[in-house]
Amino acid sequence: MAPPGLQMNEALRLLQNYEESGRGWFWATNAEGRLTYISETVAARLGKSGDGLAGTPLVELFDGSAGESERQRSLPFLLTRQSKIDELPLRAALEEEECWWAVSGRPFYSEGGQFQGYRGSGTDITAQRRSAEDASRLALYDSLTGLANRHHISKKLETTLAAFSQQDRSCAVMLLDLDRFKQVNDTLGHPAGDELLKQVAQRLLKIVGDKEMVSRLGGDEFQIILPDKDDRGELGDLAGEIIASLSQPYSVDGSRCIIGASVGVAISPFDGTKSGDLIRNADLALYAAKGNGRGRFRFYSQDLHQAAEDRRVLEEDLRDALVRNEMHLAYQPVVNAKSNVVTGVEALLRWNHPERGPISPAVFIPIAEESNLILSIGEWVLRTACADAATWPGDMRVAVNVSPIQFANEGLPKLVMHALASSGLPPERLELEITESVFLGDSSETNRMFEALKGVGVRLALDDFGTGYSSLSYLQTAPFDKIKIDQSFVRDATVAGSRNAAIIAAIVALAEALDMETTAEGIESLDQLDLIRKLNVSHVQGYVYSKPVPNANLLEQTETGAWTIKPSGPARQRNDRFHMYRKVGAIHGNHRYEVVIRNLSATGALIEGLLDVPLGTQFVIDFGEGQLATATVRRSVKHQQGVEFEQSLVSDGNGGLCTRHRVSPYLIAEATKRIATTLELPAFSTVNDWKKD
Ligand code: C2E
Ligand code: MG
Ligand code: MG
Repeated sequence: MAPPGLQMNEALRLLQNYEESGRGWFWATNAEGRLTYISETVAARLGKSGDGLAGTPLVELFDGSAGESERQRSLPFLLTRQSKIDELPLRAALEEEECWWAVSGRPFYSEGGQFQGYRGSGTDITAQRRSAEDASRLALYDSLTGLANRHHISKKLETTLAAFSQQDRSCAVMLLDLDRFKQVNDTLGHPAGDELLKQVAQRLLKIVGDKEMVSRLGGDEFQIILPDKDDRGELGDLAGEIIASLSQPYSVDGSRCIIGASVGVAISPFDGTKSGDLIRNADLALYAAKGNGRGRFRFYSQDLHQAAEDRRVLEEDLRDALVRNEMHLAYQPVVNAKSNVVTGVEALLRWNHPERGPISPAVFIPIAEESNLILSIGEWVLRTACADAATWPGDMRVAVNVSPIQFANEGLPKLVMHALASSGLPPERLELEITESVFLGDSSETNRMFEALKGVGVRLALDDFGTGYSSLSYLQTAPFDKIKIDQSFVRDATVAGSRNAAIIAAIVALAEALDMETTAEGIESLDQLDLIRKLNVSHVQGYVYSKPVPNANLLEQTETGAWTIKPSGPARQRNDRFHMYRKVGAIHGNHRYEVVIRNLSATGALIEGLLDVPLGTQFVIDFGEGQLATATVRRSVKHQQGVEFEQSLVSDGNGGLCTRHRVSPYLIAEATKRIATTLELPAFSTVNDWKKD
């Protein structure tokens, strides 16, 4: 055993080594708490020398305001009580960098028992603290986008709803799903997909503002909480703004791509008061929005449950529709607007459901697209249309609609070649109709498909122009032979003050310059046809010439050579009120009448069912589900009243209308009780009373 002096020296050297390693440090104070010793390594971090710090109060080394618990602010307290200090986390008094130490120390006393000061040590815990912080951030936030994660936002929604239900406050939830994100991910790769999601998150934050209320739930799904929002006009505007913003082109890794978004909205307390119910209902609304052709928003309403079930059944039936021979094609003439000669026809798919009768392709095509059934159905349409067209006399063309899902499928050019070869139809007699949505996703893939199809020799038409993104730049970049101007666009053009006529003129001029034909779709009335001819649109397709007809009819018409049709139809287009038959309640005083809405616009309605109601009478129209609208009678003829709403209705995201606000379910229950006890005699007789007479 070495003598005690040597031992002491050895210990000092070891401590010195330890100090120099920077892993730990030592300190000592006098009875007033002023430093008498501090390791050079720490003094250096504080920008001083050990000697320079001598006499400085120990507490001044630390930032007294830092730390999240009382414990960390207690150093002065411990020192005055002369207590032991145990691994106290303290932040160094450094402005520029964040540095944390765990400090320990023990008081020491003279032989007479008098307090002399402290001796202690410290270690740097900055790195540990940082990784602990990261871990808790990871637990709350999505590591890719920095938005709140699913767990965090669902806790937030729960606490918000719990607090709000006590205070009669409302809260909206939006669920958002990106359209065709998968396409980008598959073609540009996952890193590009990640980059895209980050940009989506940025755009969302810019619109919503509150970082804590926007979350990525996973994949390409997002959720937004909007406290105290229940105005469906405002919410619809916001959803529309979000969809428009996310649909702007992105630049990812030097590639340009476009995606879209669909939004479902549910509002507490009307659509549920528990977070689980609210989310489920917002999800149902989102599902319906996607079913409506994507790029839409949709408010939750109770009938969506039935709609979702109907859709599920329909999808099942659709699987067997082809083999059961329930589908056929109808052909609608496309007519030269000047000569009235039919130059071609568009093949339109028809499904005759065994129980439900004819179902519109606008309903079943989206279902087929979602379930990928569109590939086999689309192939059947292509083969059948080519086979039929090959039997027609002359050189009439056939146009076939191609879904974006088919367009994204590499096998399409080969399939087209097969259909042409096996029918013997020359390629220039086949026209493929494509919508603008094919430009979503990766542009280089799209261009390659265009080239391949042009290589086969078929014609290409841009369908439904004016309904989607309507970018004229598509016309310049893609090799189209024809632009089809959508019905809604033409319909609006005849309305006074509409700028659509000027836009159509511009489209026609551009198309002519690019050597493309133009077709106006859905022309029904003679005034529309007039306008279209004046605007120099080259072709017309619409009821004014012919509805879609079966192949047998077409064969009959073409037997004698060139097929000419004389236009016929109403002189002018009817106004664009919604024509309907919808039962609603009309509340007057304490009486509730059953009436039928015959047409509806945002500002008013035509109701039927009451007799001889004086002008100026006020009703509350009850559309159901808490939707009440105050209305005043402005016209009254026998059993029909034209009423004007005090507050305009707003879009429900589905081409329909809804009230901005709804009456809380609690209030309705209360009011019903009150009314039941104070019933008055009805002021008006109803149509039923009248019929009894
Ligand atoms: P689209 O390609 O824009 O077809 C034109 C639609 O307008 C057809 O509706 C046609 O019947 C309708 N239409 C034509 N003239 C008039 C008119 O004067 N007034 C009115 N109100 N409507 C008119 P349809 O047959 O119900 O088809 C709806 C949509 O379904 C089509 O729109 C097309 O996008 C899709 N579709 C139809 N068949 C197929 C198909 O075989 N494959 C694919 N992928 N989609 C198809
Ligand atoms: Mg079409
Ligand atoms: Mg169309």
